[in-house]
Amino acid sequence: MRLFQQYLNGVFEPGSQTFESLDPATGKPWAVMPEARAQDVHRAVVAARQALTGPAWAGLTPTQRGKLLYRLADLVAENAQTLAEIETRDTGKIIRETSAQIAYVAEYYRYYAGLADKIHGAHLPIDKPDMEVWLRREPVGVVAAIVPWNSQLFLAAVKLGPALAAGCTVVLKASEDGPGPLLEFARLVDAAGFPPGVVNVLTGFGADCGARLTTHPQVDHVAFTGGPGTARHIVRNSAENLASTSLELGGKSPFIVFDDADLDSAVNAQVAGIFAATGQSCVAGSRLIIQAGVKQRFLEIVKAKAEAIVIGDPGDMATEVGPLCSQRQRSHIAQTVADSIAAGATLITGGAAPDAPGFYYRPTILDCPHSRIPAVATELFGPVLSVLTFETEAEALALANDTQYGLASGVFTRNLSRAHRMIRGIRAGIVWVNTYRAVSPIAPFGGFGLSGQGREGGLEAALDYTRVKAVWLRTSDEPIPDPFVMR
Ligand code: NAD
Repeated sequence: MRLFQQYLNGVFEPGSQTFESLDPATGKPWAVMPEARAQDVHRAVVAARQALTGPAWAGLTPTQRGKLLYRLADLVAENAQTLAEIETRDTGKIIRETSAQIAYVAEYYRYYAGLADKIHGAHLPIDKPDMEVWLRREPVGVVAAIVPWNSQLFLAAVKLGPALAAGCTVVLKASEDGPGPLLEFARLVDAAGFPPGVVNVLTGFGADCGARLTTHPQVDHVAFTGGPGTARHIVRNSAENLASTSLELGGKSPFIVFDDADLDSAVNAQVAGIFAATGQSCVAGSRLIIQAGVKQRFLEIVKAKAEAIVIGDPGDMATEVGPLCSQRQRSHIAQTVADSIAAGATLITGGAAPDAPGFYYRPTILDCPHSRIPAVATELFGPVLSVLTFETEAEALALANDTQYGLASGVFTRNLSRAHRMIRGIRAGIVWVNTYRAVSPIAPFGGFGLSGQGREGGLEAALDYTRVKAVWLRTSDEPIPDPFVMR
């Protein structure tokens, strides 16, 4: 069994406790993980608090912080294959995707490295002749960064990159499901030369480690990615320390296909949108909203493609769909599919686990008569596509917005004016037109409604890790006039 360690105040150490991590492809333990308990969390936060104002970090210029981030980016790129292999082994995400995604994660660190010395305040044209007033942008403080199991290196990069560029320090909690890649990543943080305490990486269970971290009185900001249920706990808990929060939650994203769309392109985007990453993607295009005239043809092709998908060992480059991350996740999906069929959905393909060890589930398509079918209403986070049918553009928009979520959306049409009307009407943080599942460090990412608040990626995300200090400097040599009148 492979042993992983937590990274706390610049030191690698076993956690107070340990737990076994299962290989989702076999269902058997393959590694021993550190489990951070109250004491570990406390020490990590105190280390981050001390590092925040210590000379080794606070004394760096923003350009020097950027150089550390460039070094980290290079190390992530150089070690992408090792990180990918660990992520694949620990979470079941296929190597084809982890190796490509992690190589691109380096670009996020590069983007924020370049931004570090471009985050600046402002000089104000104040309405008083004897005053100079300017704004300083200062780091928000100690950040608790919490991520779920899917795409942990990516979800950590969109928090660490802007937080470190802004001068914050971070305690990063990896998911208890598949924490290996982030614990390995800590070695790169160390090798890049960040001062001790600036980045601390630990893992543990949500109700204990996660709750203690987010309620810690010395945490200033919680950057969270996960489910809306957990987000509610975090927001309630923030009443304790009044930490600010940014929340990247799930989705039930509409994938709308009009009858004038390029169907071949739309089919491929749909397959990518729901079956890539075994559907464990927050932006999964899990609600196909299809115009009646092309429904039969579209579904025939998607069904054929779904049935031809290569399911197997996630470590094999030929595999297209690997296992789900956990048995718990597979049971949840199987139960929701069964409930949906009982509620009136028609199974087009899939709907079962293959006869193999590991946490596999077949790519599944459900034709659904309305939006109250459980597979339409709830996020499954698995390879399950639910299909809704429309006749008119107004119906398409109404179905698209008939959800509490609002993370991503896709529109496939060759009609430019219709595309613009849909862009205006859809309630979601991302609209992809004639494409799907494209990301970049330059473009902000985040949701409306139950999908969360705040944005990751882009310049705004870095500003979110700062707070503004207004400075007043009086330029007059005259004595201050009437002390009883506010100036
Ligand atoms: P989850 O909410 O159960 O867990 C996420 C993280 O929160 C884990 O590290 C967990 O240990 C921690 N946690 C759990 N309870 C906690 C508590 N009380 N206090 C503090 N931390 C706690 O999510 P999950 O099931 O692991 O992940 C899947 C969810 O993540 C899906 O809803 C998915 O859509 C969402 N997600 C969103 C995005 C996005 O960017 N919008 C990206 C990926 C995943």
